[in-house]
Amino acid sequence: LVVVKDVNKNFGDLHVLKNINTVVTRGEVVVVIGPSGSGKSTLCRAINRLETIDSGSITIDGQALPAEGKALARLRADVGMVFQSFNLFAHKTVLDNVTLGPIKVRGLSRAAAEEKAMALLERVGVANQAHKMPAQLSGGQQQRVAIARALAMDPKVILLDEPTSALDPEMINEVLEVMIQLANDGMTMIVVTHEMGFARKAANRVIFMADGEIIEETTPEHFFTDPQTDRAKDFLSKLI
Ligand code: ATP
Ligand code: MG
Repeated sequence: LVVVKDVNKNFGDLHVLKNINTVVTRGEVVVVIGPSGSGKSTLCRAINRLETIDSGSITIDGQALPAEGKALARLRADVGMVFQSFNLFAHKTVLDNVTLGPIKVRGLSRAAAEEKAMALLERVGVANQAHKMPAQLSGGQQQRVAIARALAMDPKVILLDEPTSALDPEMINEVLEVMIQLANDGMTMIVVTHEMGFARKAANRVIFMADGEIIEETTPEHFFTDPQTDRAKDFLSKLI
């Protein structure tokens, strides 16, 4: 579903993605972990075309990411994105946050979009907050709205970049629960997270990145119990 081939990316002199190759199949849940600055966010952003790449290719469902315009908007709609910092539209209600994309990009009527949005808000447990503004919600609630907003576009894959790292500890679990449920429902997910519990419970595969390279790529079980490289061992020892 997502094919990343020989991807390189530089920021000036900094080579942040070095010949990245990976394939994410439908229904797969891939966790990306690695030290700060290793290129995890850049990879996610490149997959969603928020960032250009210097060489290589990224395709979604066999289609290359177009550079701009309507085609880009459509393809980007196939790739849901959830950020660390929620990024909800602050001046719109929770409900409007979730209906905006489907109305504008997918061409749904307002009524249809609202019906769908309410079902999704229900699914992530915040339906009773639909008419509030984002600032009136807790961080965990806002992040669940962000997940509902991403799902509202019927994406083929959803990227979550450290979705719980800006949250207070007591709110982390409520978001992880929603993510685990999504994974169990068969959603294709690429998740940057250091939450080992999520990786163990929900991931099919772990990608360990360091210095812009994929250093290890294996099952969570194998990665956590028997990391192959010193870099991974060192990283894991600091996590616990
Ligand atoms: P973290 O765990 O801290 O989120 P990360 O693995 O997501 O780290 P990236 O955000 O992908 O790392 O950054 C990779 C490298 O690219 C870092 O050295 C970072 O400073 C650099 N970088 C990221 N974005 C830019 C930018 N827009 N311009 C210049 N350098 C950038
Ligand atoms: Mg990052």
